[in-house]
Amino acid sequence: MKILRAEMDQLIGECNLTSCFECGKCTAICPLSEYFGDVEFGRTPRGIIEKALLDSDLVTGDAIWYCLTCDVCTKGCPSGVRFRDFIEGLRDLVIEKGDDSYGARCRRCEDYFLPTITQKLLLDKLRRDSEAAEFLFFCPSCRRRRAFSGFAKEITT
Ligand code: SF4
Ligand code: SF4
Repeated sequence: MKILRAEMDQLIGECNLTSCFECGKCTAICPLSEYFGDVEFGRTPRGIIEKALLDSDLVTGDAIWYCLTCDVCTKGCPSGVRFRDFIEGLRDLVIEKGDDSYGARCRRCEDYFLPTITQKLLLDKLRRDSEAAEFLFFCPSCRRRRAFSGFAKEITT
């Protein structure tokens, strides 16, 4: 599975990555280290942007799957770079090409909805609440359907 340079360049343009002037503010305010401890440079927004501008082979490995898509980096960027949109677009491309190595799919509709790294992080946090943890295996729309069908059963029995 390979992302073509043209596909990468389109995403780079849409998300304004070429305006990055490497100030490092995005990495300084990114909350990843609060959740994962020391985060190596290649997994930080600045590290990923640097690689994306030079190398279309960015998607091999797990670097693009750590971002929690909180969008703090976009709000703090003085140059208008939309890193969260970039990472989501890149993940969608990887999933579309059939690589599920780091993407969790809903157990009901089988759509991709969450990186497995985020799923594991949340599962570890919810370990003591098995009912809540179960919901991490369904996408938001299937979760709603499950909740409504459970509710419908309750009021019809
Ligand atoms: S905050 Fe913006 S300009 Fe600064 S390194 Fe991050 S993406 Fe580049
Ligand atoms: S969107 Fe991702 S890279 Fe940006 S601050 Fe949030 S976790 Fe960090």
